[in-house]
Order: sequence, then C-alpha cells, then structure tokens
Amino acid sequence: MTHEGSSIDPTKPSIARVYDYLLGGKDNYAVDREIGDVFKRDLPGSVAIAFANRAALTRAVREIARTTDVRQFIDLGSGLPTADNVHQVAQRNAPESRVVYVDIDPQVLVHGRALLENNERTRVVAVDVRNPEGIRTHPDTLELIDFTRPVAVILSAILHHVNDDEDPAGIVRYWREQVPSGSYFFVSHFRSGNNAETVEAEKVLQQTFGRGRWRTDEEIASLLDGLEILDPGIVPASLWRPDDNDSPWNVGGRRELTVWEHLIAAGLARKA
Ligand code: SAM
Repeated sequence: MTHEGSSIDPTKPSIARVYDYLLGGKDNYAVDREIGDVFKRDLPGSVAIAFANRAALTRAVREIARTTDVRQFIDLGSGLPTADNVHQVAQRNAPESRVVYVDIDPQVLVHGRALLENNERTRVVAVDVRNPEGIRTHPDTLELIDFTRPVAVILSAILHHVNDDEDPAGIVRYWREQVPSGSYFFVSHFRSGNNAETVEAEKVLQQTFGRGRWRTDEEIASLLDGLEILDPGIVPASLWRPDDNDSPWNVGGRRELTVWEHLIAAGLARKA
C-alpha cells in the first residue's frame, strides 16, 4: 500500500498540512487554512493540542537519546519536517542516531527528502502505517535499522488517525514483535474528554478526513498491550515528564491545564 507516486493536491485538505498550519508553518494551502481556521476561530485554544503534543514528543526523544543506548528511531506518521523533528532532537543529543520517517502525505515526502538530502542517517519512507510489514521490509528501513538492536518506535499523533476497524492495536503488536527487548514505544493520542469541545473537534476531523478517533486513557493503554508503560503512565501530554525550560508548553505542575491540554495524551513504554 505505497503512495510513492501520488502527488500533492492543493484542492483537498491534508492532515499533515492542516497540522503544519496550526503549528505556524508555511507548508499549507488555502484549503488547509480553512479547516485550520475552524479550530482557531470556533474552538479557540485548541491549537494547544498540537503544541503540547510536539513538546512532549521532543522531551521523549531527547530522553531516549540521552538516557538509553537506543540509537535508531522509526517515526510513524511523522508529519512535515518543522523545527525540532525527531532526527534533529535525536542527533543533537546522540549524533550517531538513525531515523526513518514514515508518512503518506506527498508534501511531507517532498519536503522531507529535500531537508534530509545530506543526512546519511535519516530517510523518509512512503508507506502507509497500516502496512507495517511494508515499512519494515522497505529498502531504506533495512538500510538504516538493525532489528537485532533496540529501536525507538514513535507513534506520535498517528494512532488516532487509525480507526478501530483498522486494528490500531495490531499495528503496535506487529512492531512489538519485530523489535528486541529494550526497545521503546512513544505514543501520543487524542484523549477523550467527554465534553463538548471534544465532540465538536472530533466532528470536524471526521467530517473533513473521515478519521480522528478520540480514545480514553484506558483505551490508549490497551493499544500498548504487552509493553511496560513507564512512569508517569498515560497522562495529558503537558504532564508527561515536564522539564523546567520556560516554553509555555512545558506546563508541568506550574498551572492548571486548559481544557484543550487535557485532550492530548502521551506515554512511553518499553519492551521487557
Ligand atoms: N507525528 C507528528 C507529530 O506528532 O507532530 C505528526 C502528526 S500529524 C497529526 C499526523 C501525520 O500522520 C500526518 O503527517 C499524516 O500525513 C500522517 N498519516 C495519517 N495517516 C497515515 C497513514 N495511514 N500512514 C502514514 N501516515 C499517515
């Protein structure tokens, strides 16, 4: 299920480009900004979901690079290369880190390949996350990733784009079986808040993209079945191992989270 040959369609919104717009990026079209503005205008504060997510992802990658021996990352549904992508964070902290990005959005692939042209330790693979075998056996993956050594599998803001009948737990299980003990899984995921904002945001995503499944902490944890979920568990992304830099997204316990910040969860798990 490779989308290698597909081209950019500026008339249809794309998840990657709407997300880029919400994060303040420039890789988007009017059609993407229209959807993004629904969030910005009608659901004010909702962009916190995207920023809190990115901040937690950055902290997790930095922590893996600094505190473990894992030097290979597979970033599933990686999105557009904005500042501080997984390879930048990992290679800044451990220069020998190798990163395989996986995404099906043609714009992500174009930008990713341009950005990574001179980076021998990073590749972009255009295979659907619902086809994990296709990702694992892709020549670029095999070139960079040694599956006899621990791997960090990044599932950041991607599993909520996989509907229940597409078996998101099966995707995680596949990777769990392929990687050796000592491997890590970082997950971030839309977190069901059972409130009007969640319902409204879910509706916009479903209507626009036909996907966007908000799950409870228990449902998210069950996607990680068979893995050891590390402290502090599955929690709102802003509360996942906050650090003390002064970014507004490193909230920690310093202030109450907004209702929106409760709507994105993060967690790190390890294969024993
Ligand atoms: N992982 C990044 C992060 O957390 O900041 C980006 C998350 S963005 C919300 C979701 C990304 O997943 C988009 O770039 C989209 O193109 C990609 N995506 C969605 N469905 C996908 C699929 N079935 N296979 C591969 N990529 C997919």
